[in-house]
Amino acid sequence: MPFDASVGALPGVGKSSAEKLQRLGIETIGDLILHLPFRYQDRTRSVPLDELQQGQECLVTGCVVASNLAYGRRRSLTVRIEDDAAALTLRWFHFSSGQRQALQPGVWVRCFGEVRPGPTGLEMTHPDYRLHHEQPGPPAGELTPIYRVTRGLTPSRLAKWVTTALANSDGAACSSLDGVEFTSLMDAIGFLHAPSDEPAATNGENAVGIEQRLQSARQRVALDELVGHYLILKRRKALVQAQAALPLPSKQALGREMLGRLGFRLTRAQARVVGEVLTDLAGSKPTMRLVQGDVGAGKTVVAAFAAIRAAEHGCQTAVMAPTEILAEQHFETLCQWLPPLGIGVGLVTGRQSAAERRARLAAVGDGSDLVIVGTHALFQSGVEFNRLALAVIDEQHRFGVHQRMQLRDKGNLPHQLVMTATPIPRTLTMAFYADMDISTIDELPPGRLPVRTHLASQARRAEVIERIARICASGRQAYWVCTAIEEEAESDGRPRSNAAVATLEELTQALPEKLRLGLVHGRLTPSEKSAAMAAFKAGDTDVLVATTVIEVGVDVANATVMVIDNAERLGLAQLHQLRGRVGRGSQQSECILLFEPPLSAVARQRLSIMRETNDGFRIAEKDLELRGPGDILGTRQTGEQTFKLVDIAKDRALLPQAVKIGDRLLAEDPLMAQRIVDTWLRGETEYATV
Ligand code: ADP
Ligand code: MG
Repeated sequence: MPFDASVGALPGVGKSSAEKLQRLGIETIGDLILHLPFRYQDRTRSVPLDELQQGQECLVTGCVVASNLAYGRRRSLTVRIEDDAAALTLRWFHFSSGQRQALQPGVWVRCFGEVRPGPTGLEMTHPDYRLHHEQPGPPAGELTPIYRVTRGLTPSRLAKWVTTALANSDGAACSSLDGVEFTSLMDAIGFLHAPSDEPAATNGENAVGIEQRLQSARQRVALDELVGHYLILKRRKALVQAQAALPLPSKQALGREMLGRLGFRLTRAQARVVGEVLTDLAGSKPTMRLVQGDVGAGKTVVAAFAAIRAAEHGCQTAVMAPTEILAEQHFETLCQWLPPLGIGVGLVTGRQSAAERRARLAAVGDGSDLVIVGTHALFQSGVEFNRLALAVIDEQHRFGVHQRMQLRDKGNLPHQLVMTATPIPRTLTMAFYADMDISTIDELPPGRLPVRTHLASQARRAEVIERIARICASGRQAYWVCTAIEEEAESDGRPRSNAAVATLEELTQALPEKLRLGLVHGRLTPSEKSAAMAAFKAGDTDVLVATTVIEVGVDVANATVMVIDNAERLGLAQLHQLRGRVGRGSQQSECILLFEPPLSAVARQRLSIMRETNDGFRIAEKDLELRGPGDILGTRQTGEQTFKLVDIAKDRALLPQAVKIGDRLLAEDPLMAQRIVDTWLRGETEYATV
């Protein structure tokens, strides 16, 4: 049976069983055999009674020393057993008289069950047991796999189907890899489902040995999945490269003109990355390039040069931002640079009136706007482009992998430039952006002073407010970032948040009257939001009280201080993004992380790394360590499930090996590469058609 055969093809799996399996995400034979046990009952080792722990499920051996009927709330049979070191009570609420008679002092019992606290110490209730006339030797027991099941599906039925699927599935279609433990994937999967069938296990190998084997088998499957993921990305890349894109070679030297007008010199890193991008664009293959650079490294200008190149050819560029605030800001920035070169820039947002929007869309359709800025909604609402040659996607991590693909589905395969503000650790880029080329802006514009970061507990709130007053009195501006809009009780019973609305009230009272305060949060209407941002940008507001809506991209160089209220509640990536809003000019900036003690261990680590460094790559590595990469890659936010078995937090050490194996197979063994792709492609298919 091939992996992609439906589970319905298995004997004994009818329509209703198939529906139950589907609830577990199991639709094919492949899904079924990859539905691996999440734990095992260990009957390979008898645990000495003095080593027992509450909650442990294990095999024990002892000699019966007493057998009694206990009359508590319910009548029960209690049997006391002992080994060399300690004793344990076994308890039955239901028992036959034969059972009771057999469990007499002097008899040896070997039993399996869960250890729980009871009135007389540790107990096992209704254990599985077997009697022996004399002390039994080492157990010949097994590791019993335990599967995740769903209502109406018993573990034993599921296990039976898994066994049948294993016996009938086409093992030869799976990979076999040299130089790894469990050469054959099928062997590893088989071992995970039935570790005790392995000859080594029945030869009395101890549990530790089996644990290690299980670990290697799991890693073998994870490695296969990672290699599969990598190969699928590589294949996407090949598919894209096989298609034609409009070559955009250098033409009118508008870029040179732009350089002269910028008012600053590109950093060496920016110049290099602009060069890489323009070289891509000049080619006839679709560009797929990820531009990464820390917050404030100057990615927007790179996008502008690319857009100029497209415009020189009379072609359009779409610029997608994750939020409307950021889209508007990109629009303003690009309006400073591009119209003077004769390039029309348009903004399409959800907040425009219908008439305005129609006018904008008309300008897109007839090609009078060559650069169109919007949120990603722009691309889902059927905008008709006129010679779209380039798509720039800013702040990629907010979108997730899914949108990356969707956009590419659009029409004539534009060149794609993806910009991420969250630096991504190298091992992750290798594995997860294998379909893209990568440029890194690893240098900040000159004269930037690293933001100084301080921690302050809420006890010092008044002091912090005073400091804000002083800084604003000297003509600078401040952000005060809150983590919720209104006072709200936390579901977990933690202290109430200092919400934006309440904080505005508080600061209005506490700050000198001449300071002007603004408020921006997600529940304002779009026009209220942009008015608040515009006032702050124009310097008409001194302190902007905001929720994390200002997280990405907002650029006000005169704002030199940021307070993050309840900073302990935010993740590292978000803290780093927020802090990136200050330190954008030549003034020394600072960031005050206000926290509510006591801090959890993880929160303490987050805040200290923030105080220690401004280096986004270091912070990203730490974030990966603390949180796992789902958040970093944005897959968690979009609810996208990337893997069946792999847990990147645990398995990331396998990434370099996966990349190496993937590259080797592509070069030397394309058939094997294809097998691995076939094993893991399911669920990915919607992306595969480019
Ligand atoms: P990010 O990489 O975070 O998107 P931006 O593109 O918003 O950064 O740039 C941050 C700020 O730095 C902007 O005000 C931009 O004009 C300015 N900037 C960009 N490049 C340079 C440079 N080479 N020299 C001086 N300022 C620059
Ligand atoms: Mg940016």
